Amino acid sequence: MLIRKIFICMISLLITDCTLASDDMTIPEKTKHTEKLYTKLSKCINSDNNFPSLDTAISLDIDPSHEINAFSSQGKIVITAGLLKIANSDEFIAFVLSHEISHHIYQHLEKQRNFSPGENFEDRVAFALQRGIAMEVEADRLGLEIMQQCGFDTANARETLEILLNENSSKVNDTTTGLLYFERMKHLHPKKIPAK
Ligand SMILES: [Zn+2]
Repeated sequence: MLIRKIFICMISLLITDCTLASDDMTIPEKTKHTEKLYTKLSKCINSDNNFPSLDTAISLDIDPSHEINAFSSQGKIVITAGLLKIANSDEFIAFVLSHEISHHIYQHLEKQRNFSPGENFEDRVAFALQRGIAMEVEADRLGLEIMQQCGFDTANARETLEILLNENSSKVNDTTTGLLYFERMKHLHPKKIPAK
């Protein structure tokens, strides 16, 4: 049964999208599958003139941590095994990947590093938070466009974000993380993007 599902996934990935069988797939299998989705997305972005190109040197790393997290750092996108464990569809993973890819396309890391806020500490914190929110919302918007352009259904994007919010509920008490999630939810309207 499992072998058949993996086989169908491999074939369907060439033609269309394949829904992950979350109950059956192990983390190493999901890792391989996620790498394929990443390759699919990066090829799609770089063959489409509507998008600024994505540096092909940017790698995808799967961190063995049980924490549910995805983030970008210099030259790479990191997804934890904990996040893969709860990922229940290709669209779920594509949403996370497209969001992180968008951070790289917009060079958010570099912008964050070169950013010099004002002198006053409180102003700096408030400004940095606003900037962080703006970048998250920007990455979600482009991420949804990428998903649509690359043939992924975005209808459940809000649900994906909601799952991530619920799974991270302990962190949501930390006001910064909570605020980022809530602001992202507020601005995420996948159905409003016109179909291309
Ligand atoms: Zn982000």
